[in-house]
Amino acid sequence: MRERWLNERRQEHYYRLAKRTGFRSRASFKLMQIDERFDIFREGDAVADLGAAPGGWLQVARELVGEKGRVVGVDLRPIKRLDDVVTIMGDITEDSTMLALVKELGGKADVVLSDMAPDISGNYSTDHARSVHLCKYALGVCDRVLKKNGKLVMKVFMGDMIPLLRDETERRFTEVKMHSPDASRPTSSEMYMIATGFKAQTRVKMVERQEEKPKEFTIKGDLL
Ligand code: SAM
Repeated sequence: MRERWLNERRQEHYYRLAKRTGFRSRASFKLMQIDERFDIFREGDAVADLGAAPGGWLQVARELVGEKGRVVGVDLRPIKRLDDVVTIMGDITEDSTMLALVKELGGKADVVLSDMAPDISGNYSTDHARSVHLCKYALGVCDRVLKKNGKLVMKVFMGDMIPLLRDETERRFTEVKMHSPDASRPTSSEMYMIATGFKAQTRVKMVERQEEKPKEFTIKGDLL
């Protein structure tokens, strides 16, 4: 009982702190705690933030990479303007959004963040499966835009597919850790995968522009 009361107070504390300090979401503190523990950001880093609305992680990343860094956020929902941050409204599971991200990054990223979450159905295994599905897309983004030795911070809802997702992540990174920051709700099933040392072996070649797709001939048969 006392434990629950303490946890509720702690969450309330982060919520009020976010309001007072001008961060857009309580989630900002999760990323700050993750960075404190795992030393994610360097000055000048390029960062891709997937599932970035309302922008709490973007604010933290912007601060930590400094003026020379580049921060690009993607979300299904619109994100209110933030200085020196580029935002893309779109679904990361769609090629057009992926291409827009590649274009806005203007090069490879040092860090990929994914705080993406599906709409919550309330059914534990459905929400878990949808969360894992989004994580697989986040790994796909790494394959395309992450630099060798780059880092990934990725949220996932716990469930029985975690070992498979972990395997897929370990194929790509030299080290993978699971972590629950203090600022996460203790009742939440969310965890963060912190993956470092991207191997850059599984990178998928992608068609950069639609016109570059091989054209199909409409005339069939032997013309000679
Ligand atoms: N990190 C954010 C912050 O600090 O403000 C909070 C992110 S919120 C927990 C999860 C976000 O994931 C939602 O805004 C949702 O729209 C986004 N999302 C879910 N599926 C997505 C998808 N397929 N493509 C892009 N964004 C997605």
